[in-house]
Amino acid sequence: MTLTKTVIITGASSGMGAATAELLAASGMKIMLAARREDRLQQLTERIRQAGGIANYHVTDVTSLEQMQALAAATLDTYGQIDVMINNAGIMPISFIRKLKVDDWDRMIDVNIKGVLYGIAAVYPHMEARKEGHIINFSSIAGHVTFPTSAVYSATKHAVRIITEGLRIESRPDQHIRATLISPGAVQTELYKTVTDEEVVPAMDALGSAEWKQLDAQEIANIIKFAIEQPASTTINEIIVRPTSQSL
Ligand code: NDP
Repeated sequence: MTLTKTVIITGASSGMGAATAELLAASGMKIMLAARREDRLQQLTERIRQAGGIANYHVTDVTSLEQMQALAAATLDTYGQIDVMINNAGIMPISFIRKLKVDDWDRMIDVNIKGVLYGIAAVYPHMEARKEGHIINFSSIAGHVTFPTSAVYSATKHAVRIITEGLRIESRPDQHIRATLISPGAVQTELYKTVTDEEVVPAMDALGSAEWKQLDAQEIANIIKFAIEQPASTTINEIIVRPTSQSL
């Protein structure tokens, strides 16, 4: 199916954001890539264009409401509308609470919670005026449970889950603004490199060689595409996806 939807993807410079951007562009959607690393965004934009897709990028820090609003404005200037906002940017510097890594706590709250809220704030007025749109937020298995070291990360991902549920509950019959939450299990990306607690780093390094296989970012991209492709009258509210062999 070819869809000409316009999609903003935050955290598009690597991992699931980049994989989703490539897949959606290959499906005919117009993509606005956002993240902080411009070199990565430039390379991905080029790759998509060389493959015949439509992509542009806007360097954006999701912790700034002004920059998120500028991202939405740039998307409207470029494509004329915003159909889908994918709030994917996130960091995971997990640590034991007793380490009191307050800077990491602050960064997780800023990127993982405020970044999502600012993403909603940046596109909501446009979607409300058009009476349609789709907001896709990234939670995690950690947004449903918690583990030793993941309390603050889990708290941010629980928050994203509740914010997304709030969007759904507040939906009105005259508006077709869809809210989708995706909660992946372990996916092989650069996310684990954001860990700064030296007691936790070895466990993160071991994930790559664990007996169970992490998901590929591509597999998550396929699921996002499926959610977007549903008719406007249908919303995939929540998706939980783990590697089959991940028990927690
Ligand atoms: P990556 O580290 O590969 O990607 C994270 C992206 O977030 C990068 O593109 C990074 O770009 C961007 N980002 C980080 N901080 C900011 C910021 N301040 N402003 C803008 N962009 C920012 O990890 P994943 O692909 O794994 O992560 C994507 C999402 O999936 C995250 O929300 C993560 O929490 C969630 N998730 C990941 C799981 C996993 O196992 N990998 C499991 C469950 C959920 P840049 O640095 O260029 O700004």
